[in-house]
Amino acid sequence: MKFQLSCGDAVPGCSARFEEDTQERILELVTVHAMQDHGVPEVGPEMLEAIRGNIVAV
Ligand SMILES: [Zn+2]
Repeated sequence: MKFQLSCGDAVPGCSARFEEDTQERILELVTVHAMQDHGVPEVGPEMLEAIRGNIVAV
């Protein structure tokens, strides 16, 4: 089983997609992506929970 996240679900127009073995790994990658590509200064706990809610198991 793998986990997937499409950033476009949260940020319209973003085509970044992540597929990893664990949710935690996706959250790490998305944190970096959000800061580098979306200029988010800090990904706090609430944002992480929102992101986690968008992760789907495949
Ligand atoms: Zn994005």
